[in-house]
Amino acid sequence: MQVVRTRIELQKLLAERRSANPAVRQALIPTMGFLHDGHLSLFREARTYADFCSVSIFVNPIQFNNPEDLAKYPSNLERDLDYCEREGMEIVFAPSREEMYPQGIPVLQLSAPALSENLCASRRPGHFEGVLLIVARLFHLFAPQTAVFGKKDYQQYILIRRMVEDLDMAVKVEGSPTVRESDGLAMSSRNARLDSASREHAALIHRALRLGEKTYREGNRSAVEIQEIVSDVIESGSRNKTEYVEIVDCDSLKKIEALPEKGKFLIAAAVFCGGVRLIDNIEVSL
Ligand code: AMP
Repeated sequence: MQVVRTRIELQKLLAERRSANPAVRQALIPTMGFLHDGHLSLFREARTYADFCSVSIFVNPIQFNNPEDLAKYPSNLERDLDYCEREGMEIVFAPSREEMYPQGIPVLQLSAPALSENLCASRRPGHFEGVLLIVARLFHLFAPQTAVFGKKDYQQYILIRRMVEDLDMAVKVEGSPTVRESDGLAMSSRNARLDSASREHAALIHRALRLGEKTYREGNRSAVEIQEIVSDVIESGSRNKTEYVEIVDCDSLKKIEALPEKGKFLIAAAVFCGGVRLIDNIEVSL
């Protein structure tokens, strides 16, 4: 495994690989580090698409709309590198902030207003603009054939898929299922910041989403009622404060009010749990 810190080194290394074998297939997994089993499942999926896998580990400052969230974002590069090595990742790109933003905040902006009316985008101004820009740059630097993203961050996955289409980027974007703790809590680097009471209440998020799905399966077709049921279960944990519970179309991310008799949609939630912002969702199809 090779660990590189600069864009120049990365591009040199990739050029060497391509000159040795022009048909070599690369998969990229972008991350912000503090790796857990959710990331590792993306690594394993990525290996099925490619001859070699590259990982980026970079806590991208421009996608944090809350400075405290950025300051408290956990990191452990040594352990991350160990995981990458064990999972057979071949290149790890772990640049510094100065390396990625030598001129400070970039002037170019990418945004997708039509996919940003709901869910996290409407609550985290500037977040997805920061995500799209860093992912576009990573795609440009690595030129992977495939990139793997988690569906836990569903809006991010949809936005990236759409960016790739709109900009004719030659990369296939794969979405990977959410990996959970045994009590259902979606794995997240931010879970490390939960104290023990908050950690217990955090498990209510997935339980609530599943109850929302069950309510639909049992015949309720009112999005408003299902959202309320989900929200009530989440807030039955005194540490939890719901930021949103929304039901949206899986592709357009538009809100759905009257749920279809049969069909597919997403129930998504964002919750401040003991002050730590967590997100989760469930794809429902009948
Ligand atoms: P992050 O390091 O949080 O930016 O996440 C890097 C990638 O891992 C993103 O594509 C996330 O959607 C994905 N990811 C994070 N948590 C999980 C999880 N619990 N299950 C599956 N994928 C995840």
